[in-house]
Amino acid sequence: MSTDLNGAGVLSALAGALAGGGVEIVDLSHVLSPEIPVMVLPPEFGQCQPVRIEEVSRYDARGPAWYWNTITLSEHAGTHFDAPAHWVTGRHLAQGTVDDLPLDHLVAPAVVLDFSAEAAADEDFILTRAHLEDWEAANGKIDPGCWVLFRTDWAQHVTTPKYLNLREDGPHSPGPDASAIEFLVHERGILGFGTETIGTDAGQGSHLSPPYPAHSILHGNGRYGLQCLAGLDRLPARGAILFAAPLKIRDGSGSPLRVLALVPGKGSAA
Ligand code: MN
Repeated sequence: MSTDLNGAGVLSALAGALAGGGVEIVDLSHVLSPEIPVMVLPPEFGQCQPVRIEEVSRYDARGPAWYWNTITLSEHAGTHFDAPAHWVTGRHLAQGTVDDLPLDHLVAPAVVLDFSAEAAADEDFILTRAHLEDWEAANGKIDPGCWVLFRTDWAQHVTTPKYLNLREDGPHSPGPDASAIEFLVHERGILGFGTETIGTDAGQGSHLSPPYPAHSILHGNGRYGLQCLAGLDRLPARGAILFAAPLKIRDGSGSPLRVLALVPGKGSAA
């Protein structure tokens, strides 16, 4: 969209569109609760703890007029953000932790790649460069600086064993291979890659080359991950603006967060 609006005009127009329904807000986050599944690693490794919510008081003898909880969270529980420092490939990068991210990375456009049919047909569906080239042929080139969101409709499994889909040989869920992530990072200059599954990598991503290619390549190049997203079926293929600002945790490797998308609303002109 071309516009001659200055910044104040853009914000004024946005305020009007939000009030009038021309722009709507879509919540891309799951409820953060003790029931939300967390990553399970092989037993020789340290484990991510489940979410804990402990009541401090609730209009009772512990605090007659107020309600509050103490929460205990893994940085990687629920809908969450992965910073470059999460992976060893990104450990030495500047601005690699959640307390030090460039602010203009926290509000950015998003494209949504709908591979829900493929994921329904194959729980180990692997997204490749060829799939991305086909998507671009139909939908246009992926812009630099945008989030690429991989829609699999996996969010609908969040309360069921299918979400982690753990078997004797580990978890089974869709994800990208190295060719897809190399293409997105080096040839398209994306900001980050978002998924509905518990990680940005496929459940069987440890068997790819390199192992966990999304984590390895994204974070080694200063790019971000979003996981456990919901509501991707409510986003257009192009044109959404994503608000994804992790908590400002000192030296944090990631953070639960509320991810919101601005999308054209029903009240908007064509
Ligand atoms: Mn993570």
